Order: sequence, then C-alpha cells, then structure tokens
Amino acid sequence: MTDNTDLKRLAEAAPKVRDPLKTRAHGKVRDAILSGNLVRPSICEKCGDEPGAGVDGRSLIQGHHHKGYDRPLDVEWLCARCHRMETPFNPRRGDAVKVGKLTLDAVLDIRTKRMSQRQFAALYGVVQTAVQQVQTRRTWDHV
Ligand SMILES: [Zn+2]
Repeated sequence: MTDNTDLKRLAEAAPKVRDPLKTRAHGKVRDAILSGNLVRPSICEKCGDEPGAGVDGRSLIQGHHHKGYDRPLDVEWLCARCHRMETPFNPRRGDAVKVGKLTLDAVLDIRTKRMSQRQFAALYGVVQTAVQQVQTRRTWDHV
C-alpha cells in the first residue's frame, strides 16, 4: 500500500506532468514567436480589445488552443477575459485554488483517518459537504 508520503510526493509533482501536451504546445508557441514564425497581435480576435503590454513589454494577448493542444501552432489570439470564457474549466485545483481552505495534508487526513465528516469539518474549518466532496473525490480528484 502507498503511504501518505508517496501520495504527497505524487500530488506535488502533479502540476508539472499533468498535461504534457499542453506544456509542449505552450513551448511551441513561445519558440514560434521567438523565431518569428508566429506573430502575437495586439488585438483580441474575439472582442477587438487591445489590452496593451505587460511589464516585460509583451502584448497581453494570449494564444488560445481552440483546436486542441495536438495542434500547437493553431492558436486564436484572445484577451485574458475572452480566453477565460473559452476555457472549459478552471485548471486551478486543490492548493492552487486561492479560496480553498483545505490543504493537501488535510485532504490526505480526510481520506485516510477514521473520523466523522462532522469532526473533520470542525477540525479544518470547512462545512461538512466539503469533507464529503473530498472523500467522494468530487473535489481534489487529482490527489
Ligand atoms: Zn477579448
């Protein structure tokens, strides 16, 4: 059986390896822009907004992989607002969700220790439903 240390290590390593296709697609877009094969425009293709440039001087327009990460250079250029609306789900989960009260350690406790949902809820300052969702993997499904 896997102990908590192994689970924790796997979970912490997860963000880097969760979606290698996505990471590679982002790298290919970056390389194409640097080599001049792809040009990042300054205007959003969807709403026409011009968000300007960030502190590094680059346009804040983001490349949206509207046809999937297996077509890395097939991007639609969108402002952050339009990009957020096009993305089917918020990929920030678990510890990365800023409003989340539960930590990885708490999740591992909830999954492995024998205690009632009500006791866990009181211990970690969350509602009982939050504990139930962790136990049924409705949330923290990546752990
Ligand atoms: Zn837009």
